[in-house]
Amino acid sequence: MILYIASTNPGKIKEFREAAQESGVTVEPLPGMRSLPACVEDGRTFEANARKKALHYSRCVNGLLLADDSGISVDALGGAPGVYSARFAGPNATDQQNNQLLLKRLREVQARASEQTLHPSPASRSAQYICVIALAERGRILTTTEGQGKGQILESPRGSGGFGYDPLFYFPPLGKTYAELSPEAKFGVSHRGEAFRKLLGFLATHSKTK
Ligand code: IMP
Repeated sequence: MILYIASTNPGKIKEFREAAQESGVTVEPLPGMRSLPACVEDGRTFEANARKKALHYSRCVNGLLLADDSGISVDALGGAPGVYSARFAGPNATDQQNNQLLLKRLREVQARASEQTLHPSPASRSAQYICVIALAERGRILTTTEGQGKGQILESPRGSGGFGYDPLFYFPPLGKTYAELSPEAKFGVSHRGEAFRKLLGFLATHSKTK
């Protein structure tokens, strides 16, 4: 079974491809994606964006197409940056700029919390990564799956792997940030890995009933 993925991110394609191997699913990038009209990701939820992308790009290929949307939601910031994770510090923000802004916002929240109490307790630094995958075929959504990864935002970055907010995202069960994990170890526990394993489960059942 071939599964096309609406992404031009080689790292993401590799992660999905390797995870799918054992299930006999071949992950392929959507042919010619860069020359297709882009999908505007203006949904207010990860699911809305994943569905929108999947519907849009599934009309351009014959077969099953996967699209995902993901980001980080920080509790003390009311869930921000959420669907704006990639562009938190502006439309062309780098990972470093986004990370710096995240730390600044958390310091501000913490300072406000300190002003309001005589014995301030540190503001919560809990956060979750969320990933929603939508599977579509010729303009019809077949299913969506979701994965989450819960952790804590550190005060300074640690590790050089991963991307995005990974150097700040501490994962207590492994005692490391996501940037300190190998790609395989990260996919084994991450929001994207969880959503993708659920999708493989769906495909296994789906192919039997076809
Ligand atoms: P997208 O779903 O690939 O568009 O990712 C949206 C944004 O969310 C990324 O640009 C990152 O800022 C953030 N993000 C999503 N998943 C991860 C992850 O696994 N590690 C670090 N940052 C992530």
